[in-house]
Amino acid sequence: MANNPRHKFTTQVLVIGSGAGGAITAATLAEAGYSVLIAEEGPEVNLSGMATHTPRAMQLLYRNGGLSPILGNTNIAFVEGCCVGGSTEINSAFWLHTPPEAVHRWQKIYGVRDLSVEALELLFKEIEIELGISFLNSDELPPSSARFKYGAEKLGWLIEEVPRAQTTNLGGSAYAPDAKRSMSRTYIPRALRAGARLLSNCHITRLHHRRGRVSHVSGVLKRPARERNLWGRPQRYYTSNVLIEAEFVFVCGGAIQTPVLLRSSGIKRNIGNNLRIHPMLKVAALFDEPLDSHHTALPIYQVKEFWPDITLGGSVFTPGFLALTLSENWTENQEAMRNWRQMALYYAACRGSNQGTVRVFPFTHEAIVRYRLSRQDQRNLSIGLARLGEVLFAGGARKLYPALQAPSVLNSLAECRMLLEKPIPISAMSLTTVHAFSTCPMGENDALCATDSFGKVYGFENLYIADASLIPDSPGVNPQGTIMALALRNVRHFLEEKGRL
Ligand SMILES: Cc1cc2nc3c(=O)[nH]c(=O)nc-3n(C[C@H](O)[C@H](O)[C@H](O)COP(=O)(O)OP(=O)(O)OC[C@H]3O[C@@H](n4cnc5c(N)ncnc54)[C@H](O)[C@@H]3O)c2cc1C
Repeated sequence: MANNPRHKFTTQVLVIGSGAGGAITAATLAEAGYSVLIAEEGPEVNLSGMATHTPRAMQLLYRNGGLSPILGNTNIAFVEGCCVGGSTEINSAFWLHTPPEAVHRWQKIYGVRDLSVEALELLFKEIEIELGISFLNSDELPPSSARFKYGAEKLGWLIEEVPRAQTTNLGGSAYAPDAKRSMSRTYIPRALRAGARLLSNCHITRLHHRRGRVSHVSGVLKRPARERNLWGRPQRYYTSNVLIEAEFVFVCGGAIQTPVLLRSSGIKRNIGNNLRIHPMLKVAALFDEPLDSHHTALPIYQVKEFWPDITLGGSVFTPGFLALTLSENWTENQEAMRNWRQMALYYAACRGSNQGTVRVFPFTHEAIVRYRLSRQDQRNLSIGLARLGEVLFAGGARKLYPALQAPSVLNSLAECRMLLEKPIPISAMSLTTVHAFSTCPMGENDALCATDSFGKVYGFENLYIADASLIPDSPGVNPQGTIMALALRNVRHFLEEKGRL
């Protein structure tokens, strides 16, 4: 039991986390008549008029203000949301379907049963109506996307406009984050309309279980405070213990926090051993004319010529993100900031080929995430950067500033092509990732999987997972669609088993 809990709740279903997996799970269960409580660690934030990549938004919406390190043989920063709606509030809302080859691999290696490409496609169609998935439908491209598209077409490479979860009928810019149909604007309101309750600022710290049943969970509630602290300053928050009793518990904290919660609760079998990521190398590009990329912050194209191993695309732009990319060689490259209106950010990402781990730091219960870049990742990122350089120089770029210790500047196509021969040293790379998954894979392969083929944790009667951690291995595409389609599939299976469908 939590130490003297100040708040107690009882519910039929507890959903922990309100991101891509949690929100659709909660809405489906509430609409099927279950009493549902959603516990979300982060705050509820009114996003109207707030650009979700400003420094203030990063403090409010991102875990650790946007900087969570992954330990290994090079710097990798992991970015995830911590707010009502989870990472869908801060993402670019690119919407891609699960590639059939991934579905076949998951059936074969992980023993996922009753998962068909056709059935997934039907689920995608259903979710797409709620999320307003659409293309930009405009001839007026943002200049940074237009340059990128022009470069790829000149080379004759396959390039796609990626559909996004966005409304197209906004008065303002369709590129603005405000246009996005994130969870706080779609499935969470649906869940609430169907009677679900939402506890924001509620961090679940432990699942209490005996003989394969979770009896209750404990956590901490953070509430705004009026009191002053010991030093006489106004206190921002006070915290109190919370205890929640539930018949069924769905853990939806994302690929890192879900294994942290399970492992902290003593549930460890095949949990946190199979982390997959898409490592990403960012590049700032300088053009001759002003692009004003800050007005059209969201990118819309991906080069698919080298997919599934390598994807090239445009990154969200702010002067702050530009400075971060240049900061790898700040002494040499800071002058470039003067030309920020002529610059844009792009990336080369690869389907990481290694497996990482998630463990828990004793005492503080923080995540310790490890991933070592493999030789194959190193090669793919080097080729990716070379190919990205080809597109950008063909699109009119004058100089490229990669997030590398060296080379700090790429001045020509010839310099880019050298990276095809001589890969960049791993230790020189400064990488980010916004795609993590597979820490609790689903399937019938008992040796590898943490849950059955529908997200029910092995050895438990009433504990389920419904988020990125279930995806058996890297899908090679932006994962929000896959997470939501799998969560919907699995929760429907739960309802069917309970005779509620
Ligand atoms: C900057 C960025 C850009 C991205 N762009 C795209 C894109 O364009 N397209 C795409 O497909 N994907 C994109 N992604 C990835 C995508 O958003 C995530 O993969 C997806 O949202 C993960 O869903 P999830 O349900 O697993 O976790 P999340 O959506 O991250 O939600 C998990 C929630 O659980 C909460 N939580 C965690 N632990 C606890 C706890 N113990 N107690 C209570 N609450 C808890 C968290 O605070 C969080 O709100 C992007 C991600 C980022 C960060």
